[in-house]
Amino acid sequence: MTDSLIEIERGGLTDKSRRIFKTMLLFPPEWVPTAPYLALPSLTAVLRSYGHEVIQKDVNIEMYDWFFSDTFLIWVKLRMDQQRRGLDEREARNELTDFERDRLACLASQDAIDVMELAERAIEAKVIVRGEAFYDAEKLEWALKTFRDVMQFISAAYFPASLVFYPMESNLGYRSGVSTEVLACLDDDLVNVYRDVCRQLVLPAIQKEQPEVIGVSVGTQMQLLAGMTFCKMIKEEFPAIHVTVGGNVITRLKDDLPKRKEFFTQVFDSAILYEGEHALVWLLEALAGERDWEKVPNLMWHREGEVRVNDEIYTEKTTALPLPDFEGLPLDAYFVPVRILPYLATRGCYWGRCTFCDHGQGYFDQYRGKPAHDVVREIKALKEKYQAEHFLFSDESYPPALLKKVSQLLIEEQVGIKWTTLIRFEESLQDPAIWKQA
Ligand code: SF4
Repeated sequence: MTDSLIEIERGGLTDKSRRIFKTMLLFPPEWVPTAPYLALPSLTAVLRSYGHEVIQKDVNIEMYDWFFSDTFLIWVKLRMDQQRRGLDEREARNELTDFERDRLACLASQDAIDVMELAERAIEAKVIVRGEAFYDAEKLEWALKTFRDVMQFISAAYFPASLVFYPMESNLGYRSGVSTEVLACLDDDLVNVYRDVCRQLVLPAIQKEQPEVIGVSVGTQMQLLAGMTFCKMIKEEFPAIHVTVGGNVITRLKDDLPKRKEFFTQVFDSAILYEGEHALVWLLEALAGERDWEKVPNLMWHREGEVRVNDEIYTEKTTALPLPDFEGLPLDAYFVPVRILPYLATRGCYWGRCTFCDHGQGYFDQYRGKPAHDVVREIKALKEKYQAEHFLFSDESYPPALLKKVSQLLIEEQVGIKWTTLIRFEESLQDPAIWKQA
């Protein structure tokens, strides 16, 4: 890829002449199930502005909802009983390997669990985190402990996987940084719980909706194995669907992926690097034959036995992007009692100097931000459209002047929201007067 930015127009296609696609966007586990992640609504907004049909699926929250249900837990118990029978027979014949002995011991450790009682607790725990009881520290701690107990129970059925809830640090026993291990994990029915998640939550939805293109967003390292598992199973079941992957973690793999052709032949069809909103629109144009494949910015694709990396890089103009579109996401299913919407006023990090941080590898261009008045106008619009009063400003960094101005405008215009943020704090923001205002 070149290091230069290019200006790309909409390709001269009118809305009437453009081929309209039905696209499904997937957000794979694992991520904190307290609010939607912004990637899908940002992509959806741009795709819909071009007339495309979009189904967005937060498989992460769907998975936790399913894990903490009687249906899944009874199924897990049956899976454990089946594994147990096979191992018991081998033990009777003195054929157990050390690994199988450990598996048997792990299964036996869950013998005392009454699955119906565990399922009842799990369902009650979901009611707690979604209701007023969330604010009662004892009840919340009980609910979180229940979730942890459930994950331990599920883990035994996928030994030696360790599935955990809060923090999201599940471990399937495969290293996500080693391509041969990633590929092996994708087919491993014994430990890869995401294969069952895909069978239950993803493949039936695809069968029902019949999308022509599927985009899988891999924004965090923890999503890589689940995301790749979904992609591979989708390609096996629906080979005619074009599967593309994108997100910060895919971008960080930009130097390694071209050397791993097998990912493009077995797992997905293309990868979008850096920011994906318009690149995805232009990929659809290439699929429709309306644009040359080489002219799709940020794209890595496969043709005639070769992985190709397009030269052109496109960086989104933050002030021109539409409002994130959350329509279709289950906004009341998250594990919190209120609707929380994520919001980004900036892209990239203007600071960029923390020595431990490689976040910048996910962006091509430097920091870009929206003017304070635009930020407040958009927050008001989101509040009204989605009846949400709680916001997560998920920016990496906020220039102090912008944060002060936004806080001031939120008060002056009586926007009436509560917000929290993940930004890096400048010393100048530690003034108590600013906090009082914010
Ligand atoms: S402020 Fe955050 S994103 Fe920016 S360099 Fe530091 S750790 Fe990285």
